[in-house]
Amino acid sequence: MSIDIQELLAKVPTGLLIGGKWQEASSGETFDVENPATGEKLATLSSANSDDAVAALDAACGVQADWAKTSPRERSNILRRAFELVTERKDEFAALMTLEMGKPLAEAYGEVTYGAEYLRWFSEEAVRDYGRSLPAPEGTLRMVTRRKPVGPCLLITPWNFPLAMATRKVAPAVAAGCVMVLKPAKLTPLTSQYFAQTMIEAGLPAGVLNVVSGQSASAISEPLLADSRLRKVSFTGSTAVGKTLLKAAAENVLRTSMELGGNAPFIVFEDADIDQAVAGAMGAKMRNIGEACTAANRFIVHESVADEFVAKFAAKISELNVGNGLEEGITCGPLIERKALDNIAALVEDAVAKGATVVTGGKPRGEEGYFYSPTVLTNVSREARVAQEEIFGPVAPILTFREEAEAISLANDTEYGLASYVFTENSDRMWRLADGLEFGLMGFNAGVISNAAAPFGGVKQSGLGREGGAEGIEEYTALQYIGVRDPYANA
Ligand code: NAP
Repeated sequence: MSIDIQELLAKVPTGLLIGGKWQEASSGETFDVENPATGEKLATLSSANSDDAVAALDAACGVQADWAKTSPRERSNILRRAFELVTERKDEFAALMTLEMGKPLAEAYGEVTYGAEYLRWFSEEAVRDYGRSLPAPEGTLRMVTRRKPVGPCLLITPWNFPLAMATRKVAPAVAAGCVMVLKPAKLTPLTSQYFAQTMIEAGLPAGVLNVVSGQSASAISEPLLADSRLRKVSFTGSTAVGKTLLKAAAENVLRTSMELGGNAPFIVFEDADIDQAVAGAMGAKMRNIGEACTAANRFIVHESVADEFVAKFAAKISELNVGNGLEEGITCGPLIERKALDNIAALVEDAVAKGATVVTGGKPRGEEGYFYSPTVLTNVSREARVAQEEIFGPVAPILTFREEAEAISLANDTEYGLASYVFTENSDRMWRLADGLEFGLMGFNAGVISNAAAPFGGVKQSGLGREGGAEGIEEYTALQYIGVRDPYANA
């Protein structure tokens, strides 16, 4: 990659996008965005307050009726152009994500491809928003269903996938004909700001997408959730914040999509191909520095293959090259912030205090930035915090089991239900696990399964609704049923 970082940062809009214009925050307040690998300041952005958030909703509501009348093909073409522009700008988007979030550059390129796919997928889905036609059984009516845009949406995204979490919401909303206020995470707003600018260049009319970055998330979300013009909130982030938003959304009975936290089990059976399981474990645990809602959180390994699995997995983990993701050959970047680093250190200390053995890693690394050594822990107590909480970092706790039923019960012993992974060569067992595991996503002999064409989402406290797939656009539509008098019905 040959990109001038200062030139790139100068291209990123630093204001709020309201009604198609980038503008200063009404209060004049700003906040800084830093590079987690170095602690250096990258940019200073305008910080939206409640008044700015309402102004953004005003702008969105002002164009909802006209936007809903545009043809599906027109909306599809905008998304297709956006896909092409994001792909053309892949070097810029990848560098921005590595700079503000820390992921290694090769993974940032992977996210550009993955994130752009939502634009392409929903450009294709925009023209396939099918309804049904059916006769009333009594012959009195001809019954038709159709989908209409749900209306103005608030989209709130997290810092871990700065591009993909935005495209996964914006693309189906555009496809369905909804207007939006997007609030990116304050730690990684630059990618969203540049993505919004790219959407404008792709032809999105003024006011359809408004962006309000800011240092107080609740100052932005609260007035919008209390405003009866808002019809939907789509959130990706922690379960705790998701619950707060759900309570607020109840007041105006909003449509909600909630992509929340995870605590994924990664189960390795005695009949698994262990090399394949180790390769899957590297993807499921170490992708995105372990900071993914789908990250394998608990490795549940049959005791007869645990030694072999741990030896091979720990060997691969210790080969990871930790450092600034912009540098050549780096395969594991920093954690997002000091608080995250301190939390990972505390989780490992707690596990060790409860009897765990550190096979590799186990400590923070380096003088600057928020680096933690990729870590494998064995002899982990089921009571340890690492076995119960979402880790969100490069730490792999290994637990062992003897019987299939024990593995299932251990895997399900969590309030979360997002991703799960099973490695076995036995297809009967695969289907038994599909029945027994309470998770919205399952990888069988595969460690990375997210795809724009597949419905993504959890059960239990991991969330509500699905993003991507044919289901993703439905979240942004309201079903309308029309009953038409059957011409042959008796008057
Ligand atoms: P977070 O603290 O919940 O923040 C997510 C977003 O919510 C950010 O934009 C944040 O703004 C905003 N927010 C925070 N408090 C808020 C409030 N009171 N009202 C309105 N908005 C509020 O989560 P995170 O640390 O960024 O992300 C990590 C979490 O996201 C993990 O639990 C992970 O599992 C989950 N996640 C889930 C999925 C999925 O699809 N299921 C995907 C990725 C991540 P600020 O940045 O200003 O705080």
